[in-house]
Amino acid sequence: MKSTLYWCSALALAATQLFSTAAYSSAIQQTKGTFEDKFRQLDEVLPTPNVYRSAAGEPGEQYWQQQANYSIKVRLDEEKRRIDAAETITYFNNSPYTLKYIWIQLDQNIFKNDSMAELTATFNSKPDPSLGGVDRPARISLNQLRRQQFMTDNELGFAINKVADGRGKALDFVVVGTNMRIDLPQPLKAGDKTSLAIDFGFNIIDSDTVGGRSGYEHFPDDAREGGNDIFLLAQWYPRVAAFTDYEAWTNKEFLGRGEFTQEFGDFEVTIDVPADHIVSATGVLKNDREVLTKTQRDRLEQSRKAKRPVFVVTPEEALENEKEGTDKRKVWRFEAENVRDFAWASSRKFIWDAKGYQQGGNVQPEVMAMSFYPKEGGELWEKYSTESVIHTMEVYSRFSFDYPYPTAQSVNGPVGGMEYPMITFNGPRTILQDDGSRTYSLSEKRFLIGVVIHEIGHIYFPMIVNSDERQWTWMDEGLNSFLDGVAGREWDPTIPWGVEPRSIVDYMKSTNQVPIMTQSDSVLNLGPNAYTKPAAALNILREVILGRELFDFAFKEYAQRWAFKRPTPADFFRTMEEASGVDLDWFWRGWFYSTDHVDIALDRVYKLRLDTQDPDIDWERRRQEEADKPTSLFVQRNQAEGRKTWVELNPDVRDFHDENDRFTVTNKQRNAYQSFLDKLEPWERKTFDRAIAEDKNYYVLDFNNLGGLVMPILLQWTYTDGSQDSMYIPAEIWRRNAKSVSKLIVTDKEVLEFAVDPNWETADVDIENNYYPRKIIPSRIEAFKATRGQDHISRDIMQDAKTKLKTKEANEEEQD
Ligand SMILES: [Zn+2]
Repeated sequence: MKSTLYWCSALALAATQLFSTAAYSSAIQQTKGTFEDKFRQLDEVLPTPNVYRSAAGEPGEQYWQQQANYSIKVRLDEEKRRIDAAETITYFNNSPYTLKYIWIQLDQNIFKNDSMAELTATFNSKPDPSLGGVDRPARISLNQLRRQQFMTDNELGFAINKVADGRGKALDFVVVGTNMRIDLPQPLKAGDKTSLAIDFGFNIIDSDTVGGRSGYEHFPDDAREGGNDIFLLAQWYPRVAAFTDYEAWTNKEFLGRGEFTQEFGDFEVTIDVPADHIVSATGVLKNDREVLTKTQRDRLEQSRKAKRPVFVVTPEEALENEKEGTDKRKVWRFEAENVRDFAWASSRKFIWDAKGYQQGGNVQPEVMAMSFYPKEGGELWEKYSTESVIHTMEVYSRFSFDYPYPTAQSVNGPVGGMEYPMITFNGPRTILQDDGSRTYSLSEKRFLIGVVIHEIGHIYFPMIVNSDERQWTWMDEGLNSFLDGVAGREWDPTIPWGVEPRSIVDYMKSTNQVPIMTQSDSVLNLGPNAYTKPAAALNILREVILGRELFDFAFKEYAQRWAFKRPTPADFFRTMEEASGVDLDWFWRGWFYSTDHVDIALDRVYKLRLDTQDPDIDWERRRQEEADKPTSLFVQRNQAEGRKTWVELNPDVRDFHDENDRFTVTNKQRNAYQSFLDKLEPWERKTFDRAIAEDKNYYVLDFNNLGGLVMPILLQWTYTDGSQDSMYIPAEIWRRNAKSVSKLIVTDKEVLEFAVDPNWETADVDIENNYYPRKIIPSRIEAFKATRGQDHISRDIMQDAKTKLKTKEANEEEQD
């Protein structure tokens, strides 16, 4: 199911790190007593606005960011599964500061045996010695064992062969885990630029074995002797760390979870691969005449205006291609402008299809949507990959800005789902059947459409709206999951996209949680925390709290303000408020800074009727109400036994009080009533008379906020005649008491039932306490047959000992 899958960081990360429970003391306490102001303004928590970031959440008038251009020559050694490369980085210091050194990210170093990530990986399976006297052993998966063996057998991480300045003069450098500090011979002044030349190489990891966001995948069953590989290359070159106004160098160690924070720049990359490989990469292919055949170029041209994707390399051609290799080489040359990263893929297995997306406008009127996949992707990819790419751009652009790049690509390989500028890696496959055909399940189809939408969506967030992934996973995954839910439900609303309020209910009531505003590497339960919860929160903000018009305007404003810039959480919070005109501090505080959940209970309803003050009417009503109360069991049984009271037995001694009860009206009360009316001002009299005449129903509803998270109360009620009414009570009803409030509802007709959030729009975790009166809960019960367990002692060894040893042939026969 989609809702249990989290792509990108979560799925790509095989080296799981489980964190022990982190106690979290909630939010920001204040004042005496138990009162907590859930509406306290966020400004005291957010960074102070300055010339770089304004109080509106906009880039300030002196906003700046660095730029890094790359020129890289890389060679893929297919046999050794290794790349060797030389890069030149041109670094522009646009900051107002002088820099004495430049930090470089060496993400491949995470795969070194002594990396911080490896050393801090924890192990959580322990033997349990006490179950029924029989030990239960600890468990380790064969995947984990295989990974350990691979890490032992292979030298991994970057080999840095040379670091020099633009003139070739060697520079001092220090490698610190996944980072490298290069010391500049002269400090780099504000406004200046410098060049760095780095020669490097590394052994590519087996992605299926090690896990990660790139690597190779081996196909041993291909016709070619020794099989074939698909190579996905990402985090493959030493990349300049971001230098920012809010954190200076973002050189926090790469632990595998918190992703990448990059600078924008222009790329020129030449990729030297076996001549029979097809290469997909960030950017635009510049030497198509050298690497593509005339037929392939003609097909590409055709695909620009095609209704459905056109094959540039057909499945038949790819199948032929993967039968043998070649010693010849080809060099593919790509260029990309204003991107924050560069990734590529190479294989002789690739089928290639393309279709032009006629976006219109003047930013990028035509975008080439393309997919690269092996035969294992099959019809599933042929039908849906490139179409999903285009659908994503159509929807996302509506919520943000025109897709600004010339290409958008989806590549199949060993990575479940991962994003880079103009290129994404997506994992779904078909299954080979005995008759040679390929089929795919409904869940694999949903996986493909979902993951392509999600990863292509990432080209907007964070590849263009360049949030800091190392610090805040939610800023790209949460916003992107929210929008992939919009695009996904526009493709097929019956697929669970994991963004509906009810998708997050179980997680929100769980106890082992940290707030969304937690640094990426320290987040517990990354999927629900950084994907589903922010996505569901934004869904609620859009559909329930702001409405689509206000939300969409503000969200688009955020996307456009920060396209090709670097927003922080405060910029997002401030923009959404400033552009919508709605104070949302309580919302950010509750959903992003706390672990509270939504649980509003409707615990009591009083039905009130307005007194007329006329004793002849009111006192008679009260006499009736008194009579309607139950009589005591004692009195009932005495009556049943025919037992007479003393007064009944002695009627001759009855007096005035036996004839007149306490509701008997005298002229004294009638005079008081008249005097009350006489003393009313004319407007008071008019108001009173009208209220009496209308004789409405006054209901007082007691609400309790059990979850702690303040939310609007979506109230609906049903009258005794079956008709319904509703009221939207803004969250601000909780502003003076966040725990319990009462509300007066006045109706003409009599109400049968009140319900809070009957359509499950607010992620209220306990639906049962939303009704007054309460409802009986319908559910099911299953009968089952008890079975006896087997263990070492209870197995029948006397019988088992008669078993004959099976031959290999018999085993195989059985399997058929
Ligand atoms: Zn993602």
